[in-house]
This record gives sequence, C-alpha cells and structure tokens, in this order.
Amino acid sequence: MGDFLIFIGFIGFLASVVMCGINLFKKNKVHLKQWGLGIAAAFIVMMAGGALAGPAPQAPPKARPAENTAATQPAAEPVKATAPDTSSNASVTSPATPGGVLKIHFIDVGQADSILIQTPCGKAVLVDGGNNDDGSRVVDYIKAQGVKELAAVVATHPHEDHIGGLDIVVRSFPVAAVYMPNAASTTRTFEDFINAVKASGAKRVQAKAGVKLDIPDIAAEFLAPNGSSYEDLNNYSAVLKLTFGNTSFLLAGDAEAASEAEMLNAGYNLKADLLKVGHHGSESSTTSAFLKAVSPKYSVISVGKGNSYGHPAQQTLDRLASAGVQIYRTDEAGTIIATSDGNTIKIDKQASPVKPHAPPASTVEKPSASSDSGAAVAPAAPVPVKSSDITVYITRTGKKYHLDGCRYLAKSKIPISLSEAKAMGYTPCSVCGPPR
Ligand SMILES: [Zn+2]
Ligand SMILES: [Zn+2]
Repeated sequence: MGDFLIFIGFIGFLASVVMCGINLFKKNKVHLKQWGLGIAAAFIVMMAGGALAGPAPQAPPKARPAENTAATQPAAEPVKATAPDTSSNASVTSPATPGGVLKIHFIDVGQADSILIQTPCGKAVLVDGGNNDDGSRVVDYIKAQGVKELAAVVATHPHEDHIGGLDIVVRSFPVAAVYMPNAASTTRTFEDFINAVKASGAKRVQAKAGVKLDIPDIAAEFLAPNGSSYEDLNNYSAVLKLTFGNTSFLLAGDAEAASEAEMLNAGYNLKADLLKVGHHGSESSTTSAFLKAVSPKYSVISVGKGNSYGHPAQQTLDRLASAGVQIYRTDEAGTIIATSDGNTIKIDKQASPVKPHAPPASTVEKPSASSDSGAAVAPAAPVPVKSSDITVYITRTGKKYHLDGCRYLAKSKIPISLSEAKAMGYTPCSVCGPPR
C-alpha cells in the first residue's frame, strides 16, 4: 500500500512539474498555480506512502547516557567514566573516515612536552619538541613513524621544555606552517627556534583562541590564549582541541589557572575524552572548574622522572583521581600513544621504555609524593623562600642557573627570578649551588 502511494505520488509529482514548466513557458498564471498545487498534493501522497511503507531505519540502539545535567552540582561526586564516546560531542561535524585512525603520540621527553599527531588521512602535526637535548630524539621518533613532512608545528609557548628541540625538527622536515602565540623570550633557545623557522620558509601563524589548523580530516582549533598579555609565559600557551568523529582531545600546553578561567569564561566546549594535563601536572593548572568542564576519561601527564619541581603535584593527581579520570604519566609509562577510530580511544602505554634520565645527575632529589612544586616537604632541602623572589643568574649559552659571583658567570650574566629560571628548564649549577 505504502509503496503504491509513493509510486502514484511520484508520477503525479513528475507530471505536475512538467506541466508547471510548460505553463511557466507560456506565461499562463492560472494554470501555473493549479499545477503548483498539484506538485504539493503529489508530494503529500508520496510522504503518506513513505510513512505507510514502514518506519525509517532506527539509529543504532546505543544507550545514550543521561546528559550531564548534574554538571551544576558541587564536584563532590566523581564523574563516572563511561564509554569514551560520551554523547555530548556527538554533534561534531568532523568527518569520520572509516579506514583511518587518529594517532596521538605523547613522546617521552622527560620533563618537557612533545606530541605527535597523525591524522586519519596521513597528515602529521607536532606540538612542542621537548628540551634542547631532545631535538634529535624527537626527529628520530617522528621518522620512525614514517612521517616525511609536517603539515603544522605548534610551539605552545617559548619555554625551553617546549621549543628547545623544535629548531632541529624544523630543520629536519619540510614544515608547511608554524603556529605560535604572540609571545617572545630573550633566551638563546627562542632565538635558535625563530631562526630555524625563518630559514625553513614555513608559514608563520599566530596561535590564539579561534584559530584553526589547516588539516582536512580532523577539527583542530585553538581555545587559548584568549588574552594578549600575561605575567607568566605559561599562560600564553596555545591550547589545542582536536575532534575526530565522536572523540576529542584537549592539549593544554602549560596553561595555568588564569588561562583556564579565560577558556571557561569564553564559553568554549571544553569537553574532551582525553586531557593532556596542563604544565606537567603542576598545582597551578587543572583547576576543579576546568577539570569539570573538560570531564575527560583519560589524562596524560608529560613529566620527567624525579624532576626537581615536584611535578606532578599531589593535589592535581587527587583532583584527577576524585573526578574518576584515568591517569597516564610519561615518567611511568614512557611514550604513550592514544589511537582513535572516531568512536573509541585505545591507549598504548607500552610504546617505549621511560626516558633514562630526566633531571641532571646533580639533582638527586627524590620525587616526593607529598611535595607540591618542589616546595619544602623533601627532607633534605632547606625550606625555600617563595622562589619567584630569589634572583639567580643565567648565561647566554649555558643550561644552568647560578649564584652571583659564580665563576661560570664570567662571560655573561643575565639576572632572572629563580622560578622563571626553573620554568625555562635551567638547572642549578653544581659549583655555586644556588637554591633549588
Ligand atoms: Zn613546560
Ligand atoms: Zn612553560
């Protein structure tokens, strides 16, 4: 019966359209109107036939978990981690290519960040390149994945533990575009990086909220920085959200509470299945409000074993744990690879052994589980004054920071606050023994 109506309706529809055309040609307005009504009538008959012919095929009977309407309640209740394809971002427009997968490699570069993204259609993007010493390690790793060129390099912010190895990367592969925030640093490391970018001929694009990577098969958009000037270089961090099918990833760089608040205020959809935890898991990032908005199932902390900052902070680990987030750490697992087919995320944390050393041999401090950002609790360490108040000195080319008068300061002497020196990856000189 339904099929018959569709057939009749279709014939009527065709006839009406033809007659309309003829009358339009003849400029016969009365007949044109009549045949126009004919089209509508035939269309209704067709629709009726369609309705009778049986229900449209149902969407797959996937149980839609009740939306997190509870999101406005206090955070006391841990977010139940369900299947990774949580429904809230199911409406994302990014096309899911059936064959290809999205692979995100959190390369173990010790106390630093370096993340290689391989898109389903075979493009590669590198976010950060580890410390100065990590450049060739990162290049080798990228080559080992069969990558021959980089569609984009993202330098999240000018700290050495993020851009240190990027100069070598940029010199080793053809790079289409380099994305970086509008933030500069006076370090040699930054200078090297900028020179390498200039020499490469890559397009330079300012990374800021709203800018999208030019990648065809996944959605990749910066959600930060939202402001134009910050006291702390970390808050210039380019924060990148990747969406592939129903899966999403938030790479937070070293963004701290101030940037997180701006992202929240801007009203972005921060929800992501996997969060690359900001600033190596320091206490100053991953605020409860931000974590709640992201509500990831997985988190990755890129951090060096036994680092002198006490990263990741116990408070951050506690916040993640009480939110029911699974935690992966490069200091425990080595390189971590997340693979998405557009619906599910698989995590391979057996991808490599842990990088043999993160801190320099002189740093014997044990990663004390209870200490926060290196402050105080380690037994032997003297209780430091707030590290931002202490001035130490660095040189143009060295990697250590020094006390005034150290013999290694003979050639150049650049004053810098202790916290800044540490944030930039400088380590204490073993000769003059400045505060840690
Ligand atoms: Zn960092
Ligand atoms: Zn930083």
